[in-house]
Amino acid sequence: MDLSKLTIHDLHELLIKKEVTSREITETLFQRIKEVDRKIQAYLLLTEEEAFRQAERIDHKIRQGERIGDLAGIPIALKDILCTKGIRTTCASKILANYIPFYDATVIQKLKREGVVFLGKLNMDEFAMGSSTENSGFQITRNPWNLERIPGGSSGGSAAAVASDECIAALGTDTGGSIRQPASCCGVVGMKPTYGRVSRYGLVAFASSLDQIGPITKDVTDCAIMMNAISGYDPLDSTSVPREVPDYKQFLIQEIKGIRIGIPKEYFIEGMDPEVEKSIWEAIELYRSLGAEIENISLPHTEYAVAVYYIICTAEASSNLARYDGVKYGFRSAEYEDLLEMYMQTRAKGFGQEVKRRIILGTYVLSAGYYEAYYRKASQVRTLMRSDFEEAFRKVDVILSPTAPTPAFRIGEKVDDPLQMYLSDIHTIPVNLAGIPAISIPCGFSKDGLPIGLQLMGRHFDEGTLLRVAYTFEQNTDFHLKKPNLS
Ligand code: GLN
Repeated sequence: MDLSKLTIHDLHELLIKKEVTSREITETLFQRIKEVDRKIQAYLLLTEEEAFRQAERIDHKIRQGERIGDLAGIPIALKDILCTKGIRTTCASKILANYIPFYDATVIQKLKREGVVFLGKLNMDEFAMGSSTENSGFQITRNPWNLERIPGGSSGGSAAAVASDECIAALGTDTGGSIRQPASCCGVVGMKPTYGRVSRYGLVAFASSLDQIGPITKDVTDCAIMMNAISGYDPLDSTSVPREVPDYKQFLIQEIKGIRIGIPKEYFIEGMDPEVEKSIWEAIELYRSLGAEIENISLPHTEYAVAVYYIICTAEASSNLARYDGVKYGFRSAEYEDLLEMYMQTRAKGFGQEVKRRIILGTYVLSAGYYEAYYRKASQVRTLMRSDFEEAFRKVDVILSPTAPTPAFRIGEKVDDPLQMYLSDIHTIPVNLAGIPAISIPCGFSKDGLPIGLQLMGRHFDEGTLLRVAYTFEQNTDFHLKKPNLS
């Protein structure tokens, strides 16, 4: 039995039956990383020593007969945008290449308390800006299903590491699709929780009104387990919501009779890949045959989503990224005569091209005279988009769409055409603008063997229904069991 190929819940069973130790699991994972990460390039940093110390601690507890939780002793990896105390956290940016946080993000603290074994930090698009992980300041991560393809982004390292069994599960972040789109490209499960469900404390900010941390896992059960561990109010994040967290495992039931699933006509767009469209319709038919009610719905302001998103996220980014000035954090250029030149040289050399593009765009849309025309207008349209969803959720319980219009594209295909890259986020962005939760699950493969993802969107704080509808699909299909061939 190859332990790296198992899920959190499989491994938990083996641990409590004392059939394996956390140390053995951890060794297998580092072995796997050594074998395949040359090809995938998902990891930026490994934390081997601390991982084994943690594994020993959990094994000791088990030997003592102590009860352990679902995640104790399970090896997990982290997108490198989450602050880890004493461990380099770079956001895949040269400007933070040597940044060592002196505190843990709240989600890290929570997972530590659960006894998780952290394997290391994962590659991403610089500051989470991108859809392909090609914007990393350090390396290009490859899709485990086809090494010439992108793994999606910006949590491309997280999705690729889960899909290639280089970790059992991972955390990603999602501002406009960065958990769901890479999960879709790599054939794994990814959930963006409701805005406010998971604390953002210690998540390096990109666009604060949109950012949310969430799990990338091998199946829906593992997603529920991770959601249990990371959700909940945090006094350190004023946007987290003091609302009780249900036990998400209770939603892992195969029962969707009478559930109303909405199909938004605006999401079946021109330029959508025919193989994606076919898989989505097959999924809809499967749901219908299992007893769900399928309803056609409309989200009329969808066409403005990409434009609105790229005004709001760049505006927020320009403000959030002002702190990287060579004084407080990370990199400082060595060549300067005075303070102003120091700022300019540091930012010119420290940031990559896409980050600079967004800072410039964001500064422009916030500037005097343009604010009303761009930022304020975008915020108003955002409200209309939120009302579209509220209206739709009066009629249906969940909304179904593709996660992305195409399977993973080729490395290099869109790097020189930012607009094409932005347009590939059309299905995921509205969810962030409205603050609702959504999940991506595998629902098929293209003729070339590339995974296709299905997105389910839900009401605010109704992650439970998403898990239930996703679980029902998973129990009736086997897409989530397929593995890429990396030997
Ligand atoms: N691809 C989108 C962007 O480039 C979304 C990124 C994200 O969710 N972090 O902004």
